[in-house]
Amino acid sequence: MTIFSKIIAGEIPSYKVAEDDKFYAFLDINPVNWGHTLVVPKQEVDYIFDIDDDQLADMIVFAKKVATAMKKAIPCRKIGVTVLGLEVPHAHIHLVPLQKEGDMDFKHKIDNPDPEKMKKIAADIAANL
Ligand code: 5GP
Repeated sequence: MTIFSKIIAGEIPSYKVAEDDKFYAFLDINPVNWGHTLVVPKQEVDYIFDIDDDQLADMIVFAKKVATAMKKAIPCRKIGVTVLGLEVPHAHIHLVPLQKEGDMDFKHKIDNPDPEKMKKIAADIAANL
């Protein structure tokens, strides 16, 4: 079971943003910028391009809904989209609010983000879904 499957199962806490029968969205615990959200399929697949076409299309549509809510909740120019997958072997899309290119710099993460702020951001995004 991957760490993201444990989060989806509720065995590990997360700042949940959205969920449906196939996907789960939650705040990245070490955000590159405030509001940094991960979109994950409930099905355990490591590499995103191993996901079958229909499921991958649904994942992008789910990510679009989350990104639309993020853009309403968080002042930003756009929501940036990245896929890395080098750390956690469970496919996920990174959604990051952007004012400038440097806001998507994975070398500079926010250390020990304030839990109350994270909770509020997750609630604000969820309220805009
Ligand atoms: P990647 O696999 O895309 O290279 O990076 C994995 C991402 O997942 C990282 O940005 C990391 O901060 C995030 N991450 C790793 N473990 C956890 C966790 O237990 N909870 C949350 N919310 N995010 C995590």
